[in-house]
Amino acid sequence: MADKVIPLADHRYAASVPRIPLDAAPPSGLLGDALGRPLRDLRISVTDRCNFRCSYCMPKEIFDKQYSFLPHASLLSFEEITRAARIFVAHGVRKIRLTGGEPLLRKNLEVLIGMLSALRTPDGAPLDLTLTTNGSVLARKAQALKDAGLQRITVSLDALDDTVFRRMNDADFPVHEVLAGIDAAQAAGLGPIKVNMVVKRGTNDDQILPMARHFRGSGTVLRFIEYMDVGATNGWRMDEVLPSSEVVARIHAELPLHELEPTVLGETAERWRYTDGGGEIGVISSVTQAFCADCNRARLSTEGKLFLCLFASHGHDLRALLRGECSDAQIAAAIGLIWQQRADRYSELRSAGVAMADGERRVEMHYIGG
Ligand code: SAM
Ligand code: SF4
Ligand code: SF4
Repeated sequence: MADKVIPLADHRYAASVPRIPLDAAPPSGLLGDALGRPLRDLRISVTDRCNFRCSYCMPKEIFDKQYSFLPHASLLSFEEITRAARIFVAHGVRKIRLTGGEPLLRKNLEVLIGMLSALRTPDGAPLDLTLTTNGSVLARKAQALKDAGLQRITVSLDALDDTVFRRMNDADFPVHEVLAGIDAAQAAGLGPIKVNMVVKRGTNDDQILPMARHFRGSGTVLRFIEYMDVGATNGWRMDEVLPSSEVVARIHAELPLHELEPTVLGETAERWRYTDGGGEIGVISSVTQAFCADCNRARLSTEGKLFLCLFASHGHDLRALLRGECSDAQIAAAIGLIWQQRADRYSELRSAGVAMADGERRVEMHYIGG
């Protein structure tokens, strides 16, 4: 058997320190990348740790006791995250999603939420501030998150059947505690809640209909996500991807659906409504229908690297600037230059059969944030 490679936490993914252009104009909020895409959505990973071991994200064999997670000093502090977020907002970001790893494991996360919820767009509007969680400690934390200023929440849940769910999270975590978390979030006013279900053919696709029946009419929007080839550890195979078209067909056969028009540019989910008025579902077809053309998302990793695509192998070391002598204007200029040069469109290229360069190691989802 080949020796296991334990990556060095701080140097796991290649990063370059951004160049600071000297002649940049201040942020106008109208930044466009090389393909004309604006910068609107920032996903911030607040921890690379998680109490689940979902096989599609942090398989147990790799993420075991010997795995070196980032030391605390490597993580961006709340002040550094908020400073970076303020600069991104000046560049046009309107939505911030906290993620991870499991974001609710980051100590005192409510303090960060309070700091981010105080940010305003150049027009004085609050940001759309949300968070994605596995729901394991949500029942305890929902009210404090709401009180701190969180507006909405997305909960990941891959099965309703307890045995299937425990197998999916590979941490023997019971489904009833996540369902209690969803109820607590609803009661705290963190709705409309979205529930994300990653579908793996042959593993949890028998849960599609039970999940649809459970959430239909509840006000919670269930979204089915195609199992993606993120990272380099989940052993992804195309035959385990169940195309969203098949998810919709299976539900439609029992509970008729019709498609809705997209409401927001860059929306990742295709929306469908139950014909009888039982609410809506979404499907996120990252594999079978690339949506790179409208992709307006940037990702800030746990240790402050800026990634321009979920499938990138290389980040830009913003932490070096945040911890250096740079002014906000200089950091803004550096981010502006990086975004202007962005031409990433991995899913489109994958669909077109273009392979990634040899030797490039894609960033892991738990580190960059989903
Ligand atoms: N731990 C939190 C959670 O699970 O909600 C937040 C981080 S997790 C990386 C964010 C989202 O990415 C989750 O909804 C998860 O299901 C999804 N995800 C992780 N790996 C995936 C994969 N290989 N394909 C599709 N979605 C994936
Ligand atoms: Fe943890 Fe979320 Fe990844 Fe599952 S998907 S292992 S809950 S970070
Ligand atoms: Fe955006 Fe990259 Fe996903 Fe395309 S593959 S939608 S560019 S994150």
